[in-house]
Amino acid sequence: MKSLYFKTLRFGVLSLLVAGSTSLLIAQNGVKKWTAEETEFWKPEPPVVTPGNAATDSAPSDAVVLFDGKDLDQWVVAGTQKPAEWTVQDGVMKVNKKGGNIETKRRFKDYQLHLEFRIPADIEGSSQGRGNSGVFLASTGGGDAGYELQVLDNYNNKTYVNGMVGSIYKQAIPLANAARKPGEWQSYDVIWTAPRFNDDGSLKSPAYATVFFNGVLVENHFQLRGETVYIGKPRYRKYEDAPIKLQAHGDKSEPISFRNIWARDLKPAAVVPEAR
Ligand code: MG
Repeated sequence: MKSLYFKTLRFGVLSLLVAGSTSLLIAQNGVKKWTAEETEFWKPEPPVVTPGNAATDSAPSDAVVLFDGKDLDQWVVAGTQKPAEWTVQDGVMKVNKKGGNIETKRRFKDYQLHLEFRIPADIEGSSQGRGNSGVFLASTGGGDAGYELQVLDNYNNKTYVNGMVGSIYKQAIPLANAARKPGEWQSYDVIWTAPRFNDDGSLKSPAYATVFFNGVLVENHFQLRGETVYIGKPRYRKYEDAPIKLQAHGDKSEPISFRNIWARDLKPAAVVPEAR
């Protein structure tokens, strides 16, 4: 009896210690204070898939061409009307890390997007600090506000799997790691279904993303839980239509490049009348 008593006592003390350490993370107002690491998962790792031959898909006739290699006329500094200050050379735009994120002047709701990016062949760094950029499928404000499809070099570079290339940042682990070697051009093809909101700002229907990375399906009609955030839980904030944004990430690695960016507005499919 005595030993059971002490065991119970010890368990109680341990429980108190655990509860005590957890309570350190609870702010005084009772709201949990998250750390970035709490939303970073390193397993399970998606299988490595070697993509087929690289192909450049030039824009179809009804596409909105967002970058054709000539200039940044379609782009502004995110959250402003100022001209984008990334560099354009040899038909390619390169991230200017000091120039900040850039976004399209045009706004989109549901769309199909194609873009190509290249990690420099001499890239250095590890985990999130190696060719980090991103495509915000809807930019809902300055900085990193919105819904980020991650761009990163994960060719032999590990990071948390919900933050690797092909992930919807901190929400969706890609179905495969189809990364090409640094120095090679890679492609994203995305189908974005924007979230819908009620007049009071509450969510009517969530956002969905389907993503092909180098022709390999990595996100299959993934239902988003809200905007992608570095710390804490995703949440939705009402918007109608939004620019598409590219990230100038602050990591120390060499800046990446983009080319051949176009989008097509998507309308609901016409419905065939029911046969009688
Ligand atoms: Mg990023």
